[in-house]
Amino acid sequence: MIAVQTDRLPWHHAVWDRLIACHRRGRVPHAIAVTGSAGLGKSAFARGFARALLCLSPLPEGDGCGRCRSCSLQAAGSHPDHYAVHPERDAGGPIKIDQIRQLIDFLMRSSQYGGYRVALVDPADRMTLSAANSLLKTLEEPPAAAVLLLVTSELSQLPATLRSRCQRVQLKLPAAGLARDWLATHYPDAIDLLALAGGMPLRAIAYTQAGVGERYTALVADLVAIAHNRQSPVLAAQGWTGTGLREWIELLQLALAELARAAITDCDADRISGSAQLHMLSQAIDCSHLHNYMEQVTAIRRAADQPLNEQLALEDLLIGWRTAVRSARAQTMG
Ligand SMILES: [Zn+2]
Repeated sequence: MIAVQTDRLPWHHAVWDRLIACHRRGRVPHAIAVTGSAGLGKSAFARGFARALLCLSPLPEGDGCGRCRSCSLQAAGSHPDHYAVHPERDAGGPIKIDQIRQLIDFLMRSSQYGGYRVALVDPADRMTLSAANSLLKTLEEPPAAAVLLLVTSELSQLPATLRSRCQRVQLKLPAAGLARDWLATHYPDAIDLLALAGGMPLRAIAYTQAGVGERYTALVADLVAIAHNRQSPVLAAQGWTGTGLREWIELLQLALAELARAAITDCDADRISGSAQLHMLSQAIDCSHLHNYMEQVTAIRRAADQPLNEQLALEDLLIGWRTAVRSARAQTMG
């Protein structure tokens, strides 16, 4: 997602301590699936653990020292006992069987430094089925002193047979106070987007860097204007054409989720701007109409993977929104 300077984040401590305890007892699992929602720092955690496994003089809490020859080689990306596989082109692309075959060759070699060999696949859910299956064969008879780290926020996308060979390490959502304190120190600009990011600090940072806050506020303003008949759905759709349909639908889904939440809780001050408006809107639409509309949005989002007319899709979505609000209103009046 984004590069953070620190590898180990405050909400990783408990999981980290458990893994380091395994390491000290010489009982590191052969395959570890590092899981949890996107935006919790899974990649950073896995990198940090790889460094801890290879470091020649680890720090008291088990972290790599950052100074020994092993840590320096890792930092330079040239440690002979460390191997990382990522999608070849963009982050959403596949990890192919040839890449996994090279990783398996690496795991089968003997260690150059006499310690572990550590391989990382990130994100592991991008492996093609044949790539995942070839990895499975290796895990059935794991080579000695080799550790495979699979990083994924979509564990269910991995074949069940592969999952069952992995020790699962789940990163959990930080407590709201902890996440806010950490952002206040590192990326104060992102605090306002923490709620929108579902409490995941790194996602809040990514949102900030991508200008998501501004677009979200503009989208909420459009939803409010359409609900109050101050804006036509078709004109609003024109304003969004060319800005990226998939991402726009994600923002719409965030707004609707917030709307659903606002319907059952009181608006709190931590929420992003626009939520006061959403809160008022939540009283203009009932749960069943909101639910039906959310299903319509989900269906269009699925279709957005196929090439489709962006302007038409935006119009459909915004007209659907107006219909949902109007139906709710008609029902209330009737
Ligand atoms: Zn070191």
